[in-house]
Amino acid sequence: MDNENQQLRTQELAQATSLVQQRISAACIQSGRQQESVKLIWVSKMHPLSDVEAAIAAGATAFGENKVQEALEKFANSRLGIELHIIGPVQSNKWRKAAHVAQWIHSADSIAALQKYEEVCAEQSKHLQVLIQVNTSGEASKSGLDMANAKSFLEHLPNLPHLTYRGLMTIGIHTGVAEDSRAGFAWLRKLRDEFLARGGIYANFTELSMGMTDDLEVAITEGSTLVRVGTAIFGARHYPA
Ligand SMILES: *Cc1c(COP(=O)(O)O)cnc(C)c1O
Repeated sequence: MDNENQQLRTQELAQATSLVQQRISAACIQSGRQQESVKLIWVSKMHPLSDVEAAIAAGATAFGENKVQEALEKFANSRLGIELHIIGPVQSNKWRKAAHVAQWIHSADSIAALQKYEEVCAEQSKHLQVLIQVNTSGEASKSGLDMANAKSFLEHLPNLPHLTYRGLMTIGIHTGVAEDSRAGFAWLRKLRDEFLARGGIYANFTELSMGMTDDLEVAITEGSTLVRVGTAIFGARHYPA
């Protein structure tokens, strides 16, 4: 992209981001929360590297990608002050690359994955922030732990020196009605609270990754601390036919 187009794109993304920040702010006011308690993650999946550059120029500091391969293409060269969050399910043959490229992984749901992340981080002397994904919608298409198994999974988390357990992640229910996700979000917050109160390896269990373009207000009023927003910032994604 030439310079002029890139500058226009930066302006566009800055404006879209400011609208999203206003929505975040309104939801925080509504629920008596500080705006700083909610962090925006720019979900750049399916958008080109030039959009990542434009978003950084517009002030983005944290990006979300749901495919490890795509993340490597855009974020292999880590940039000072920029965090990459892997937010999609990671197949076992991609665990190594995920731990290599990311600062945060939101989608952990197996002990084997955690152990591989630890191994890679130990080799690379890096530290990884980890969220455990729970499927609160019951939809078969969603990954993450079943609600019925989540508590016992969390109770058996291994203590791994290069990983910090930061909390829980979920995806709202896909009905087109944001309110339908509220019960699942509230349930996840209770689970987070219960483990945070235990201290020990749960002492940093302060985060709740929930809320996207269509349901971020509901998520924030239910305690979300990390909202993952793609469409409202970058526009529609074009999936190959
Ligand atoms: C794509 C994606 C998002 C962003 O969704 P939008 O509706 O475009 O904001 C958030 N979280 C996950 C896990 C995703 O895969």
